[in-house]
Amino acid sequence: MALPNSWPITPKLQENNFTPKPTVETVGLSTGCIMEKFIRLLRQHKLKVTQPRLSLLKIISEKETAISQPDLEKMLGDAVDRVTLYRVLATFEEKGILHKIFDLHGTATYALCSTACDEHHHHDEHVHFICSSCNNIYCLDDIKLPKINLPKGYQLQSVGINAVGLCAECKAKI
Ligand SMILES: [Zn+2]
Ligand SMILES: [Zn+2]
Ligand SMILES: [Zn+2]
Repeated sequence: MALPNSWPITPKLQENNFTPKPTVETVGLSTGCIMEKFIRLLRQHKLKVTQPRLSLLKIISEKETAISQPDLEKMLGDAVDRVTLYRVLATFEEKGILHKIFDLHGTATYALCSTACDEHHHHDEHVHFICSSCNNIYCLDDIKLPKINLPKGYQLQSVGINAVGLCAECKAKI
């Protein structure tokens, strides 16, 4: 018998073939509301809800600083393989969920985007603070970038300002 179009179980489940509740348990989260937030975020960006994506969002949102791919690999352990991680990072960057910042060694690190970012444009117009001692990168969301008035005929694609110095923790150690 064919299922009626108005199948009573939420249509979201058919679309993603994924149930939110078991996910929360699989990822090992005690607080369901955070996961709900991530699930909403993924759907908002028209992305399928998958465990690697949720795991990555959880780790990145818990860190105060931007994280590099090697560090993410270590934190995820066997949960997500390298190729999947690479793809998830690329997708998130493309969709406006994460933005990339290069540290002092040229290693790419990732931090969560503001809600203003989407798949067409990033709007992470804030200063990044890089600690020269621990190499941690902080998004200083409250410090906005200056407006760049380009000469006629130029087109702006991105602006980045890195402030380098000692973070509060390293400064306190001196
Ligand atoms: Zn962004
Ligand atoms: Zn530091
Ligand atoms: Zn940032």
